[in-house]
Amino acid sequence: MNVLELKDVTKKYGEFVAVEGVCLEIEEGKILSLLGPSGCGKSTTLRMIAGFTTPNSGTVAIAGENVDHLKPYERNVGLLFQDYALFPHMTVEQNVAYGLRYRGTPKPMIPSRVQQMLSLVRMLGMEARYPSQLSGGQQQRVALARALATDPQIVLLDEPLSALDAKLRLELRIELKEILRSVGATTIVVTHDQEEALSLGDEVVVMHAGKVIQRGSPIEIYKAPADKFVAEFVGRSNWFCATRRGRSSGDLSSYITSNGIEIRTRSAPTDRRGSADLCIRPEHIELMDVTQGVVSDEPDQNLLEGVVVDVAPLGADVHVVVDLPGETRLQVIRKNVGRIPTVVPGQPVRLCFAASDVLVFPT
Ligand code: ATP
Repeated sequence: MNVLELKDVTKKYGEFVAVEGVCLEIEEGKILSLLGPSGCGKSTTLRMIAGFTTPNSGTVAIAGENVDHLKPYERNVGLLFQDYALFPHMTVEQNVAYGLRYRGTPKPMIPSRVQQMLSLVRMLGMEARYPSQLSGGQQQRVALARALATDPQIVLLDEPLSALDAKLRLELRIELKEILRSVGATTIVVTHDQEEALSLGDEVVVMHAGKVIQRGSPIEIYKAPADKFVAEFVGRSNWFCATRRGRSSGDLSSYITSNGIEIRTRSAPTDRRGSADLCIRPEHIELMDVTQGVVSDEPDQNLLEGVVVDVAPLGADVHVVVDLPGETRLQVIRKNVGRIPTVVPGQPVRLCFAASDVLVFPT
């Protein structure tokens, strides 16, 4: 069953269209990440679901019922919004109990529910503290406990981890997912951080300029981006402007970049004769020393030669920048494990990547 259904929802501010014709549904118990750059309409979409913002057109239904006429507090949603911080004059306990009181939970039941929620977010023992006496991560945990306390039909999280430093952000991200799963919460989480979106969501919805561009599993979004925007926004990428030269063999196509480099691709259905933007992920490129024997020229592989200009060992990965002829610069990412021969700046190298790993976006 769909817990939430947005049908053709549009929001304008004056002439400016912040959200345009958005359709969205989410199944019970699923986590959906709403991903996109700043200003693309993510928060506005969430605020329309919560009832803080009224759409100009379209409908919002929660658990099969149209909620367009309901005020925010009449909708059974749990909120963790940036501008909906913990109440500073209330203790942790009072903050978590707030929604329960508001919703008319029988008084004797409130303390045990608060304890249950604080246990869930590992904040037992902190009941009497005020938000100012908590770290950023602890405040977010309490805010999550408050959002979940009323057992809402849908949980809306707007950039829940953005105020935290990188290490805590990662820790809390894993914890957040565990907690949401353990209570089976149907959740929409808004983020502009692709890693966060891909790791938290069962599904990811990518928005751009007020519209939904693509919806899919995290792996689909990364492997088969719907357009150039999604390919650029999710994951790292190297780009070539190229013109199709023809079919090289079987279902392979051959392109020539503006710098005269031949790139083979798998032919896409839309892959007609013409110009295209080609994208290759840095992690799909193999690096070899030019002295590493003779390499056979397989038709479904691309084999290029270049010179290393920079090597940056970044913990688990090594980022290598390689210059190809014609002022083309490529990023390559290798896993930082012992068996990979280290390359150094100035070293001539061969680059190899499969035709099937090249993403083709006809222009
Ligand atoms: P961010 O990640 O920066 O929060 P977002 O994707 O959540 O961005 P929204 O906050 O939904 O974006 O805003 C979408 C667009 O609507 C932006 O261009 C914003 O400036 C505009 N906007 C949002 N609220 C209002 C408002 N109350 N009045 C006028 N314009 C608004």
